Amino acid sequence: MFLFCVENLLLRKCCCGIVFDDMAQSISKMVAVWDAALKEIKSQMNDRQAFETFFGGTYVDKISDDEMVVVASTKLACSILKENFMKVIRQALAGKVSESVEINFICKTDDQKSQKASQPQVRAFFADSKLNRKYTFDNFIIGPSNKEAYQAALFVASNPGAVYNPLLIYGGSGLGKTHLLHAIGNLIRDKNPGSNVLYVTTQDFFDEYVRYVRGEQEGESLKAFFKRSVDVLLVDDIQFLVGKRGTEEMFFSVFQALYTAGKQIVITCDQLPSKLQGLDERLRTRFEQGLPVSVGKPTKETCEAIVKNKIIDAGLDVSNLDPEALAYFSSRFNSNVRELEGAVNRLLFYVQNIENKDRIDLKTAIDSVRSLVDGKSDENSLTVQKVVDVVSEYYHLPSEQLISKSRTAQVALARHVAMYLCRSLLNTPYKKIGETFGGRDHATVINGIKNVEAMLKEDPSLQKVLDELSAKINPENK
Ligand code: ADP
Ligand code: MG
Repeated sequence: MFLFCVENLLLRKCCCGIVFDDMAQSISKMVAVWDAALKEIKSQMNDRQAFETFFGGTYVDKISDDEMVVVASTKLACSILKENFMKVIRQALAGKVSESVEINFICKTDDQKSQKASQPQVRAFFADSKLNRKYTFDNFIIGPSNKEAYQAALFVASNPGAVYNPLLIYGGSGLGKTHLLHAIGNLIRDKNPGSNVLYVTTQDFFDEYVRYVRGEQEGESLKAFFKRSVDVLLVDDIQFLVGKRGTEEMFFSVFQALYTAGKQIVITCDQLPSKLQGLDERLRTRFEQGLPVSVGKPTKETCEAIVKNKIIDAGLDVSNLDPEALAYFSSRFNSNVRELEGAVNRLLFYVQNIENKDRIDLKTAIDSVRSLVDGKSDENSLTVQKVVDVVSEYYHLPSEQLISKSRTAQVALARHVAMYLCRSLLNTPYKKIGETFGGRDHATVINGIKNVEAMLKEDPSLQKVLDELSAKINPENK
């Protein structure tokens, strides 16, 4: 990782036209200082993954008498380095950089990167296929479910055609396969702008094949085009080859031609190709002969990092996001990153255009995606839990007791009060209240609530308690 950075640095500095000797000296100083600091930080951090995530790919862009500028790979990394790692960084730089030097973090913008990239020249086939600059390794959040795929993709992008051929990335929808495919293409193109990287979906391949057999394309054959004009082939959603005999046949011969010539092939599939019913046997075995790696559902932490990243990208201050709202998004939309992103986009639209809020609390989060999910039931289940927590805290009881079978007077009173509040504040159905409180039936819930109503008539001070609890459960209705 660090080698890339030095390479980037040299490239960037050479372009600025600094006298080479001075430049080489200042570069080697910067590299040495940051390299040493990184080593120290790495040895002090127990969490290797956190180190790679936030420090991986960092390099020093500038050191002057009063400022040191560190480039990190994402805006999120910049903000986390600044907020959480400043002390560690300062310690690691002690003695190497004066304490009065201010340390700032910047992120490589897509603009900077796109200067180096060039989209492919007009091709005889697949003229419209383009790499999407939006998808890079930098903005791919790594977690246990995709780490292996990320590392394999990064390795292949750094050593195309060398070892793992083909690289197969497989897994369910919305888990980052297409993102990694473009990231590979973008990195290869960034490092070597002259290389011919072709990204195609299986549908593109099918369409082009159909045009070709209809004779709409004149000149060279499709296979000859691949042999001559493609160094790296990225094929998305290979599962759609199934059942298209002619396309499969053509793909097989293209695959063989590129493979034999040592050209890198990367494919994605929604499952292991060996499980694809009806796929040509020769393709099945070839697709898995290189390196198959999977992407899975993201963990809660990965989802949280994705949400934060998107919020920062939108220019909002992530500290305005309540932890409950973050937890809500990360648990409600955790099976598909595309859906998670869609939900965050709605949230952003909502807070920027509809509610105009600075603070994103749980209620705002739920309201913003109400049409995507059954918002009301989410709200209920979340707030029913809150009722249990607040009431058990008030009566100094562990919350499990409220949902237990215990019938002691104190527990029964607390349980009835909680049931009453669920009904009066949230209008929760009796059945649902019963389920929440240890699988009790509908009649038991009604009895509990009636019991509180009867007590209220006899003891008006109970109303005060209920008001106090209501305010805690729902502070907005104070
Ligand atoms: P797939 O091809 O597996 O269906 P995509 O690669 O199209 O999924 O991902 C769907 C969306 O989710 C894209 O916008 C992508 O950028 C985003 N995404 C998926 N995984 C990650 C990740 N780990 N970090 C950041 N964004 C991700
Ligand atoms: Mg995809």
